[in-house]
Amino acid sequence: MIREIFSSIMGEGKYIGRRFIFVRFAGCPLNCVYCDEESKSYLNRVEKIPGSGEFEILQKMEIKDIVSAIDKLKTPDLFAVSFTGGEPLLYSKQVKEISEILKDKGYKTFLESNGMFPERVFYFDIASIDIKLREHFEYIKDEDYKKLYKNELKTIKKLYNLNSDVYAKVVVMENTNIDEVREIAKDLSDIGDITLCIQPVTPRGNIKSPSQRKLFEIMEACGEYLKDNVMLTIQMHKYLGVL
Ligand code: SF4
Repeated sequence: MIREIFSSIMGEGKYIGRRFIFVRFAGCPLNCVYCDEESKSYLNRVEKIPGSGEFEILQKMEIKDIVSAIDKLKTPDLFAVSFTGGEPLLYSKQVKEISEILKDKGYKTFLESNGMFPERVFYFDIASIDIKLREHFEYIKDEDYKKLYKNELKTIKKLYNLNSDVYAKVVVMENTNIDEVREIAKDLSDIGDITLCIQPVTPRGNIKSPSQRKLFEIMEACGEYLKDNVMLTIQMHKYLGVL
């Protein structure tokens, strides 16, 4: 279930630039066109020294091993421990168990999720929930897309009502429909004080990021509902060449 545990800089979203420990879980039921999750085949790897990018592979990883790996990777500038993926809520029972131990030890917890499992969500100090667009999939049935979107909003609302610091993230592409993103901003503003992070896709193959002009237009469209609660974040870790 664990892909890797390592220490790095948060490369995207509202807490971009902060130091995190990432607990990355393997696997995700979605299949976004820009996803690199499928290309990773290793499991159970743990960084030896924080930020070194050097790993050892453990034979098994029980809850106590995961917590011990986190303790060893703790640095004075640590902001929070991120449960990421893949989709961490595929393993919500384990995430809850680890999260409770970490809270007792004084760590801040952070969830990065695609939002498809509102019923599995519980309190995290901070949560970043993805909103998917239709063009994120090669093919998706209309009813499946609508269900996914409904669940993403439900997840955000649940976390908001639990008093988590929840924000939303949407990856935008060259062919992104600005009106669709505007509607998302409207739905988020109906929930409450939610920041929306606009993230231009990291280009690869046929997948292209929007022009500079289009990025401004997308942000302005979101601002009609979210005011200044909209921000642009690029995948900084990819530019820095860190994990
Ligand atoms: S939700 Fe995230 S992990 Fe899942 S397929 Fe999409 S990009 Fe990959």
